[in-house]
Amino acid sequence: MNNLSQKIKNYSFTSLERFLRYVQIDTQSDPYSSRFPSTEKQKNLSIVLVDELQKMGVENAHTDEFGYVYAFLASNTTIEKPTLCFLAHIDTSPDCSGTHVKPIVHFNYQGQDLVLPDDLTQIIKANDHPDLLEQMGNDIVTASGTTLLGADNKAGVAEIMDAVHFWQSNPDVKHGPIQIVFTPDEEVGRGTEKIDLGKINAKYGYTLDGEKRGHLENETFSADSFSLIIKGVSQHPGFAKNRMESAIKIASEIITALPNKELSPESTENKEGFIHPVGIQGTVEEAKIDFILRDFDTKNLQLYGEFIISLTKEILTSYPHSTFEYEQKEQYRNMNEILVNHPECLEFALNAMKKAGLEPSLTSIRGGTDGSRLTFMGLQCPNIFAGEHAFHSKHEWVSVQDMQKATETVIYLAEEAR
Ligand SMILES: [Zn+2]
Repeated sequence: MNNLSQKIKNYSFTSLERFLRYVQIDTQSDPYSSRFPSTEKQKNLSIVLVDELQKMGVENAHTDEFGYVYAFLASNTTIEKPTLCFLAHIDTSPDCSGTHVKPIVHFNYQGQDLVLPDDLTQIIKANDHPDLLEQMGNDIVTASGTTLLGADNKAGVAEIMDAVHFWQSNPDVKHGPIQIVFTPDEEVGRGTEKIDLGKINAKYGYTLDGEKRGHLENETFSADSFSLIIKGVSQHPGFAKNRMESAIKIASEIITALPNKELSPESTENKEGFIHPVGIQGTVEEAKIDFILRDFDTKNLQLYGEFIISLTKEILTSYPHSTFEYEQKEQYRNMNEILVNHPECLEFALNAMKKAGLEPSLTSIRGGTDGSRLTFMGLQCPNIFAGEHAFHSKHEWVSVQDMQKATETVIYLAEEAR
């Protein structure tokens, strides 16, 4: 056992105690707000984090008008090491209440269903959560039945804060320059909107916002939006015979003609992509359908757009006086397109997980992350597990031991990176 692993073995982790405090601060974000951050209350956690970082001796820790938290640990070694950035988000999902969260620790879990005391109909069933059955003997944190827990992503926040605490209380452990960033509004897709990359200036970034212990997510969807406008022919309905071409009916024919046994969210999994209508509005004269297009292979997005166009043309052959317009726009890209050229960024994290005693695996996310946007903004940024499960729901849970393994991973990663 080397020096560092001995020190980690002797370390009293602080992530649980931090986590229990952070989840009680309501930081729900709001998709309908146009302000930044979308809700002011997110800053309540930013202020707490800055205060705790400063008390740990990280004097430069600060928050800005947008609620971002930045803190920098200078290198304490003469060995040249790249700057690493660890990120987590402070907001919780708008899908489920985050007000008055009452976290409960279920010590020494033995495979039972977890009944949440404030609403006895809320039961986390072991059979519905295969990952829970891998937690025998561990301590599980849940909410009390009326709110989400907020492990997404306060587990990640607590794990990173604990790693900072470890370095600050073990100054003889050598590390390179380390940047810490906590972001608001990730859950509403705006987490990178006001980020100051000039302040960060790191070579490798890692979000701690993944699910299962040992997972490193290096692939996200590539995503486009596609909006289709149908221009029909409007007539007085009493005098419309052989003249009216209703844009509403044309739009509904297009929707009906979409494949639903394939290429749809309901019929795909793993690496399969889809075409998904997310909004429709219209009058007889004009109708609009908004789609999202998703695939791990970016060039398929073009094919999906062409598919919608050819379907529309085919349907319009029955409506000779109607026309259509469309616009396809990039939303985000699969971060693996960049990460594939920087295998060392993944290697450091995989090796760190091995040192923490885990069996690491590379996985993909059927969605996007702040990391996918950051990667294309110049900070390559895969996603390390934080242990959060069943997120955005009242059944959310996290294991205390997984949180500690995530902190260990961060500490070893700083040793691995070169
Ligand atoms: Zn998250």
